[in-house]
Parts: sequence; C-alpha cells; structure tokens
Amino acid sequence: MARSFNIAVFHGDGIGPEIMAPTCALLAQLAEASDSYDLRFQDAPAGAAHYAKTGDSLPEGSMNTARAADAILLSAMGLPSVRYPDGTEISPQIELRKALTLFAGVRPVTVRTDRHTPLKLPAGREIDFVLVRESTEGLFYTQGRGEVTQDEARETLLITREISEQLFRFAFDLARSRKAAGRGPGKVTCVDKANVFRAFAFFREIFDAEAARNPDLLADHAYVDATALWMVERPWDFDVMVTENMFGDILSDLGAGLMGGLGLAPSADIGANHAVFQPCHGSAPDIAGTGVANPFAMILSAAMMLDWLGLRHENAAMQRDGARLRAAVEDIIAQGTDVTPDLGGRARTDDAAQAVRDRLFAP
Ligand code: ATP
Ligand code: MG
Repeated sequence: MARSFNIAVFHGDGIGPEIMAPTCALLAQLAEASDSYDLRFQDAPAGAAHYAKTGDSLPEGSMNTARAADAILLSAMGLPSVRYPDGTEISPQIELRKALTLFAGVRPVTVRTDRHTPLKLPAGREIDFVLVRESTEGLFYTQGRGEVTQDEARETLLITREISEQLFRFAFDLARSRKAAGRGPGKVTCVDKANVFRAFAFFREIFDAEAARNPDLLADHAYVDATALWMVERPWDFDVMVTENMFGDILSDLGAGLMGGLGLAPSADIGANHAVFQPCHGSAPDIAGTGVANPFAMILSAAMMLDWLGLRHENAAMQRDGARLRAAVEDIIAQGTDVTPDLGGRARTDDAAQAVRDRLFAP
C-alpha cells in the first residue's frame, strides 16, 4: 500500500509562490503515477508579505504544520521593503532552522556541461560534490550578540561534540548513499583550519573518530584556504565536504558560482527529525510578477526532498523519482533551449516546468 507523506509548503515572498506552484504540481504528478507513495501538501503561511498583513512572520499554526510534517518545502522569504521594527530583514527560515535544530546545511554542486559554469571543464570531467555546512553554531554562534566596546569587538567560535558528531555521522551516511547510487567514491573531506585554531583541531579529532567508525568509506582533511583554491582548480576531486558554519557559508556561494548562478543551486537544511528543502536564492523582487523566474533551483530542492524521504523511509520509488526529476532538469540545462532568461534563454517559468514534465511523462 502507498504510504502517505505530509509536506508543509511555505510559498514565501516575491518569486516564491511562482516557483513553488509548478514544483508542487510536478511532485503531485510523480506521486500520482506511483503506487508506492502519496504526497499531501499543507500550506504554511509565513514571510514578509504575511508579516505586513498580520504583524506575524511565522504564525504558530505554520510552525506546528512544519513540526508535524514529514518534510518541509520552502521557497524564498523576505522582501527589502518589509522589515522588523529593529530594521532587520524578515527571515522565518532562520527561525525554523533554530527551532527544528537543522544542523546540516546541504548544498550540492553539480556541473555536467560547460554551458553555464565560468570554469573550463576538461573533456570527460563533471563536477558533482556536496557541501555539508554546520548550521547552528561555529562562528555564527554569537550572531547578533557579539560584544562591542569603543575599542574592541569579540565574537565566540563554538564547536560542540554533540553537534559535530551528528554532523559527521550525517556526512558519512550521505557519502555512503552517494557511493551506492554511483555518484562518488564514498569520500568525506573535513574542511577546517586545524593548524591555527584549537577549536578546529577539536573538530578534526571528532571527525577522525567518526571516520574510524566508517571503514568502508574514505576520509581526508583540507584547510579551508586550500579548499577554496581546489574548488576552482580541481573541483571534480571532491565528493562530500563537511565544514563549520562560516566556512560553509562562504564556500557554498563559491559552489553556486561554479554552477553558473543562483537559479540552479538547490539546498536542504537537515536535522535529526526534520528537514527543510529550499533554493539558495532569495525572493528576487526585481523580477517578481514578470513570469520569468527560473524554477530549477526549487525543483532540484524538491528532488533532494524525495531523495531524503526515500532514504529515510526505505522507499525506493521515491528515491528513483528524485533521481528522475534531477536528470530531467540536468538534461534541459545541457540542451539549453527551454531555459529562463537568467540562463540566457527565452522560456518563461511555466515553459521551463513544462519541459520537465515532458521529459518525465513523455509517452
Ligand atoms: P537574499 O538576501 O534573500 O538572499 P538577495 O538580495 O541575495 O536575496 P536574490 O533574491 O537571490 O538576492 O536575487 C539576486 C539576483 O538574482 C536578482 O537579480 C534576482 O533577480 C536573481 N535571481 C534570484 N533567483 C532567481 C531565479 N530563480 N530566477 C531568475 N533570477 C533569479
Ligand atoms: Mg543573498
């Protein structure tokens, strides 16, 4: 019998609803065609427009919907014109990350053709690695609470054993599932600055202990500065990369740059019991309402959701559909015809989504 999964949907602001609608439609069609799973979508109102209307950017009802769901889909939230009274931007996604302890930020970097990447890919090479960024502590620990006097400023770098162990376990499990899917050699690279900071030597020690528990996988280390260089010089050598919060923040933008832009970069924020899947880009208010937003980062994030749910619930059909959805988008990107203006094409959001549908369901 088909198992049913509840998906909380944050439609968000700006282009958010424009890329979420076709994504949910594709997911619904995949589930419809499958005997093995059903998806039930539950709207979770939140974000800047909702705040402007109600004074609440993340209503308790939406938080409860998210907490109770099997997975959470989120498009972009926030608008430059709407702010909290203290002047900061509306970002319920950060509250969600904290409230649900989503400690692992997952950013796949995939480049299969020369078309959009600023790099020159040597013949026969593809880039396909995943960056796992710790998302609750590290150099962001004192975010907004640093001590600043007239003469000096201090922030704290916090690395805990508990979160690091969970983070590394997640990274090794991910490398194992990628290896099983034929996407990598099963290697995890710990990115740190252990030569300078004791906190990172501690991070590395915890990594080494986890590596010893996973003798079927490869493990190595790299300093963050060298990693930035290698991501440009030989990015095809990476499989799973795991790092601290701030380093991950910076390297993931470098990763999006390698892919050729924000419109192609998906992400997931994953904890022990919850996960949020969302594109790396923001709400793009400059193009909202014009119908040309690129839906691919959102659709690729939905594919990651199918991967994660499928793995977690041992649902092979879901994992297969995640891979099919990703392959359809990669094929369109490689062909370069049904792509939106940000990728140099003339397709509208709905045309790009239709191209995915054609590839998935062509007779
Ligand atoms: P945030 O602070 O929320 O990250 P941001 O100000 O960094 O937002 P984005 O909203 O991501 O910026 O937009 C940056 C640029 O990229 C804008 O010009 C926007 O139009 C473009 N952009 C972002 N996402 C898409 C997309 N899906 N399709 C087309 N263009 C996009
Ligand atoms: Mg941004």
